[in-house]
Amino acid sequence: MTMFTCGPVEMFKEAAIVRSLGFVHFRTSEYGQMVKDILKEISQLLGNTVENSLIYLASSGTGAMEAVIENCMTVKDKALVINGGGFGKRFCELLEYHNIPFESIDLEWNETLTAKHFEPFENSLRGGVKFTTLFVNIHETTSGQLYDIQLISDFCKRNNLYLVVDAISSFLADDYNMEKYGIDTTIISSQKGLCCSPGMALLSFSRKMINKINSNPLPVSKYFDFKDYLINIPRGQTPYTPPVLVMYEIREMLKLINKSGGKDCWINKVKEKTNYFRLKAPQLGFKIPDYPMSNMLTAVQFDDVSAYEVIQVLKDKYHLYINPCGGKLADKLVRVSHIGNTTVEDIDNLLDKLVLSANEVKERNVYAKL
Ligand SMILES: *Cc1c(COP(=O)(O)O)cnc(C)c1O
Repeated sequence: MTMFTCGPVEMFKEAAIVRSLGFVHFRTSEYGQMVKDILKEISQLLGNTVENSLIYLASSGTGAMEAVIENCMTVKDKALVINGGGFGKRFCELLEYHNIPFESIDLEWNETLTAKHFEPFENSLRGGVKFTTLFVNIHETTSGQLYDIQLISDFCKRNNLYLVVDAISSFLADDYNMEKYGIDTTIISSQKGLCCSPGMALLSFSRKMINKINSNPLPVSKYFDFKDYLINIPRGQTPYTPPVLVMYEIREMLKLINKSGGKDCWINKVKEKTNYFRLKAPQLGFKIPDYPMSNMLTAVQFDDVSAYEVIQVLKDKYHLYINPCGGKLADKLVRVSHIGNTTVEDIDNLLDKLVLSANEVKERNVYAKL
């Protein structure tokens, strides 16, 4: 099975084999030093020069999203959420669960975020409370839309808001820089752009956000109390057992990224596959929505057959796997990821088989009607 998925992805051999090579126990200074070096490199990739500002958790991405709400917010805060799909909605649900006041900018799945969406929120004291923090999944993975970070950053600077960015599905596929855009918290995770196993989430903070976390008067989750993680990180340590082997996989991926020429070259490699797919797919009659999309994936729209059924044929008959969409988009959209260890030849093969699978579902429908 070849996976063109958002994460976990088709892994690179160098990272996939580390589990068989053994590892150093995590409470040693050798492990701590390795972690410090790795986290320093990831901070550079994120464009954050604040020292000891990157922590990591044994958690999937959602655990980190929830932990951010607990650690970076209080009931005195008020959040504004860009809600353009499943992951935006998840931020809303988590804020609600933790009783943090919020409002959301709700977008249709194919509606592009523009300056006009922000107008009602400029200098806004809605309900007598000022917004303090903006939450965005910079790439809304459920539709593929990549939001305009400059637009969001400008709004936050004008209105003096903290900016929290879930960059889980954008990191290492699109350009990103925390200091350039004034981002206060970035959430990433091991199984997406880093192309490693699931199990680790990483969080990078601005100086301002570290101060806010350390002065949060509320009791937060014991396990996810960022203050404990921040105290331990100068030694490359965590309060509890970390996903040690994922860390070794990340080390291999960083070597590969450096070997390719660094971050920009790596992103260009992803982008080449993305551009190739987006050039070829319409030539074969596939429809790609017209909102701005991340390099990480391309959504393909099906109007006359069930997208979900096409995915099943593709998987069962041709052993190729692409991501379905949830909810009301299940029959309408598929998502083809361009990260991971796949090539342009793999894309040719995928497109061939996608045509065959769509035709098979079409024919099946014709027979069903006879
Ligand atoms: C994958 C993803 C997550 C995290 O999902 P988990 O299943 O909890 O790892 C969060 N946000 C975005 C935008 C994602 O793509």
